[in-house]
Amino acid sequence: MPFSSLGFAPSVLPALQRALKEQGFAAPSEVQTAAIPAILQGRDVLGSAQTGSGKTAAYALPLLQQIVLAQPSRVRRTQTLVIVPTRELAVQVGNAINNFAKYLPHRVKVAVVFGGVSINPQMMHLRGGADIVVATPGRLLDLIGSNALGIAQVSTLVLDEADRLLDLGFGEELGRILALLPRQRQNLFFSATFPPDIEVLASSMLHEPLRIEVLPEPETAPDITQRAIQVDTTRRTQLLRHLIATQKWSRVLVFAATQHASEIIAVKLRTAGITAEPFHGALSQGKRTQVLMDFKASRLQVVVATDVAARGIDIVQLPVVVNYDLPRSAVDYTHRIGRTGRAGESGLAVSLVTAPMMAHWKLIEKRQQLSVQLEQVEGFEPTEAVTEQAELPASPSNGGIKGLRPSKKDKLRAAAARAS
Ligand code: AMP
Repeated sequence: MPFSSLGFAPSVLPALQRALKEQGFAAPSEVQTAAIPAILQGRDVLGSAQTGSGKTAAYALPLLQQIVLAQPSRVRRTQTLVIVPTRELAVQVGNAINNFAKYLPHRVKVAVVFGGVSINPQMMHLRGGADIVVATPGRLLDLIGSNALGIAQVSTLVLDEADRLLDLGFGEELGRILALLPRQRQNLFFSATFPPDIEVLASSMLHEPLRIEVLPEPETAPDITQRAIQVDTTRRTQLLRHLIATQKWSRVLVFAATQHASEIIAVKLRTAGITAEPFHGALSQGKRTQVLMDFKASRLQVVVATDVAARGIDIVQLPVVVNYDLPRSAVDYTHRIGRTGRAGESGLAVSLVTAPMMAHWKLIEKRQQLSVQLEQVEGFEPTEAVTEQAELPASPSNGGIKGLRPSKKDKLRAAAARAS
């Protein structure tokens, strides 16, 4: 079914189609086919859909039509409020909406607001109003409290990744926001999972919603090739450079154990003429956003991240992930390699295995029931002796391999990372 059969108004369709074509959207995804006609008719929607399903376009396209067709008034009022759990998702959704809105007959103003950065530029941007506000809950309430924004005239509310909103402890803020919204409104509720608290929230908000469930299809199970290369500790950067050049890797996410290590690796790569930036919790939010934008726009070839910071990275086309330092736990290994091979693309995960980490690698393999052939690359054959005891990479952990418990120092680091 083409986008033209979903019920878009003739005055809006060509502009949307032009933007969709430009972005390579040939036909609507499953969630788009189901949600768009219902949203255009003003219905509430309860979508069980993961990132990668195309849910952003599923709600953004019909909402853009609603805004364009609404009676234009001299004062812009916020008609659509999109609440998201993280700053990264806010930026991503804002960019997506702006891209879809590019050729519409009226300019649709989108404001993206999130915490962790100065509030003043966001207040300035909100002067004169905004048609769509994409916000994280805390900053939204701050802006409402400073009279920079009013939400009393919102006609559609979108909760994107509702389960993560509650997981991150935004339940109370959400309650305060809902109390400020008009009772009469359209509600679009998207969540990847439906634990009891989400069911309760959804049933309290939604009015006879259309339920859409997009199950991850078996054939879209990630196609990730895993490789493990033995190398000496001191030759890892050289090997990484060699692999980037010989394998022609255009976009690589490299994992380092510490913030310091990620800085050093990025500097070494830059010295070798490769565009690389570190990505960790001690960087300002502005810097992190910039690094992600540059990475997505291919202005950066390599991002060197820590585990904690990388949780906010959501990039669909990420062909290669490299474990420069091995992850602390098998759970982290799965999270890391899951960054590649998304949305049906194939991916490659390469782990650099040094002799002191050999036992640790074997534990990860055992835990994940993997059997990855250990390789050597010509010119980088290891000379270090394999030791019995696995060393712990000094990264904070969100899981653990039995027998490898975090040390006091690790716990302090984890606490510092959480605080940053
Ligand atoms: P989302 O689930 O909204 O985060 O979208 C995941 C990715 O799929 C984004 O990179 C979109 O640009 C892309 N996408 C969404 N819908 C389509 C479509 N109909 N055709 C091609 N790509 C799409």
